[in-house]
Amino acid sequence: MSTEVWSKADLHIHSTHSDGTGKIPEIMEYVATRTDLKVIAITDHNTIEGALFAKELEEIYGVEVVVGEEVSSTEGHILGLFLSEEIPQGLTPFETIRMISDQGGIAIIPHPFSRRGVFGPFGRSSFVAAISELAFHAVEIYNSVPYLGWANRVAAKMFHGGQGIAAVGGSDAHMVHGIGRGYTLFRGTTAEDLRKSINELETRAEADRGGIAVALRYMRSIPQIRRLQVANWERCKVRI
Ligand SMILES: [Zn+2]
Ligand SMILES: [Zn+2]
Repeated sequence: MSTEVWSKADLHIHSTHSDGTGKIPEIMEYVATRTDLKVIAITDHNTIEGALFAKELEEIYGVEVVVGEEVSSTEGHILGLFLSEEIPQGLTPFETIRMISDQGGIAIIPHPFSRRGVFGPFGRSSFVAAISELAFHAVEIYNSVPYLGWANRVAAKMFHGGQGIAAVGGSDAHMVHGIGRGYTLFRGTTAEDLRKSINELETRAEADRGGIAVALRYMRSIPQIRRLQVANWERCKVRI
């Protein structure tokens, strides 16, 4: 049995199908050759197109792919994992989470305390209400986007077990070199093990300190990310 083995999964990755700079095959290549991630989720804004493409490539690269989407709800971004159908944008959090759950998916609050509109949904005061009133499965305690350091610290402080919700980490990578900088540690090795580990609230959020080099690369990529947001406007436009 693999129950004593713990593995890493990056649950929050963007590709060129929304505003990420990495094409799906580049992402798969990077994960396979440069990281020790066992599972990744492709979570583009309001589309599962790239994630489905990545899923088709998983055997070639030996990386298991979870089909995900970062859905723009009326209150902010919501990550849906283990999806088979695309979730439409513009619904309330309640409706969005219900559509994710109806197809057996996992609903996650990403970057809960970012003050940047497009990246942030729930403020400090509504966080407790959101996790008690809405059926989220997990909250992203670590997000490795460089300017979210402060928000991560608040998230970690406000999160304490016993809230019936799992802690996960993701990179929110918009370029391949950011992949794996934040990740989720789960029991087992497969995507199904990951799902089980989240359901049993035993996952942990961790950070791989990429250092200043990754932050600088990230800053240099911002103009390209902005251009992709314009090119994929219908998917990325919703500002909260
Ligand atoms: Zn987001
Ligand atoms: Zn994101």
